[in-house]
Amino acid sequence: MKAPVWAVLRRLSDGGVHSGERLAEELGCSRASVNARIQALADGYQLRIDRVRGQGYRLLSPIDWLDAAAIQAGAPAGVRVEVVEETTSTNSDVLARAAAGEASGLARLAESQTAGRGRFGRRWLAPLGGGLTFSLLWRFECGVGQLSGLSLVVGVALTRVLNRLGAPVRLKWPNDLLLGERKLAGILIELAGDALGPSAVVIGVGLNLLPAGDVGQPAAALREAGVSVSRNVLAAALLTELAAALSQFAAEGFAPFQAEWQHWHAWQDEPVVVAPMQGEALAGLALGIDAQGALRLLTSDGECSVHAGEVSLRRLV
Ligand code: ATP
Repeated sequence: MKAPVWAVLRRLSDGGVHSGERLAEELGCSRASVNARIQALADGYQLRIDRVRGQGYRLLSPIDWLDAAAIQAGAPAGVRVEVVEETTSTNSDVLARAAAGEASGLARLAESQTAGRGRFGRRWLAPLGGGLTFSLLWRFECGVGQLSGLSLVVGVALTRVLNRLGAPVRLKWPNDLLLGERKLAGILIELAGDALGPSAVVIGVGLNLLPAGDVGQPAAALREAGVSVSRNVLAAALLTELAAALSQFAAEGFAPFQAEWQHWHAWQDEPVVVAPMQGEALAGLALGIDAQGALRLLTSDGECSVHAGEVSLRRLV
C-alpha cells in the first residue's frame, strides 16, 4: 500500500472527523472518489469507518499504532527495534537480513503483513492494529542440531509475560499459545546454519490482542481475558522476556525450561491425536514433554516420543 494511504489511516485514527476534501488531497484523488477509496480501505483492513454527513469520515475504533522508539525504550540491550507499516512477512524480511550478515538481536515489527506465514506455508492473518506480528533474529554458536526445544522455549517466554498480565494462557505442543481451547498466538521458527554451527534463528510471533475474525480455526484474543495493554508496552515486554530466555537457552540448553513448559501445558494427560503432514495419524494421551522437548505420547502400543517436525496436534473430543 502507498504512503498516502497510511497517512490517511493515521489521521483518521485520532478519533476525530476528517473532511472529504482534505482526504481527497492526501489520497491524491477527486472528492467524488473519496467515498469509494475510504470504503476500500475499510474493507481491505477490516476497519469500521463512519461517514458523518456534511462533515467527513471518522474511524470508529482508533488504532494503537506501533512506535519503534517506544518499543526500543523498553527493550533489552542488544535488541534493535524496527517498525514497518507493511511488508510481505517479517520472517521473510529478517531471514534475508540474516543472510546478508545482520547481527543478532534485530526485531522487526509490522503493522500489516500481506503474506504472513505460519508453519507448513499456512497463512497468519491479523486485523490492522489488532495484534502483534514480529520477528526476532537470534544467533547461536552451536549448530541447528543442538537447538531442539528452542520453539518450546519461545512459547514459555511469551506465556510468562501474558500470565503476568493476567491472561490464563497455556501452551499447546509444540508451540501454540491457547486461551481456553482457542489459539491466541502462533510461533514460526526458521533456522539457517549447519549441524556444527554457528546458526541463525528467526523467531516469528503472531499474537491477537483483538478478535482476529475468521482465520480458519477458532481464535482467541487477549482482550477476552480482560487484558488491555498498549501494543508498544507488550512488544517491549515480550522482547525482554524472549531475550532473557534465549540467552539462558544458549548457555544451559532446554533442561531449565522442561518443568515450566509442562506447568503451562494445556492438554496434560488429555487424549490427543498427532497428525503428520503425510501418513497415518497417531492417537494417545499427552504425557508432557521429554528433556529434548519431544511430546511423550502414550498410545495403545506403549509410550513413544513425537518430534516437532511436520506434525500438528489436535485434542481428541
Ligand atoms: P495448528 O495451529 O493448526 O496446529 P500450526 O501450529 O502449524 O498449526 P501456525 O503455523 O502457528 O499453525 O499458524 C498457522 C495457522 O494458524 C493457520 O493455518 C490458521 O489456522 C491459524 N491462524 C491464522 N491466523 C490466525 C490468528 N490471527 N489467530 C489464530 N490463529 C490463526
